[in-house]
Amino acid sequence: MNLFGIAVDTHAKRISNRLGLSNNTDPNKIEQDLLKIIPKKYYKDVNHLFVWHGRNICTARNPKCNNCPIAKFCKFYEGC
Ligand code: SF4
Repeated sequence: MNLFGIAVDTHAKRISNRLGLSNNTDPNKIEQDLLKIIPKKYYKDVNHLFVWHGRNICTARNPKCNNCPIAKFCKFYEGC
């Protein structure tokens, strides 16, 4: 992550892959994919959103897809 980047932790990685925002597994490559599609004004907030969503809805095991407000945008959910 650079000074103007997006922190890609385990939540950001998992959710980016599930949503189809990135097909990469390397956090640096995921960040590059995210930087292309997320407006710069959201860079400082987006990791907090990934962490919140990852802890409460899109958990590593048994994600709560039926209660997910962004399920209609999710590639993982399409496959369920
Ligand atoms: S629909 Fe499921 S897999 Fe997709 S973001 Fe929501 S909780 Fe995660």
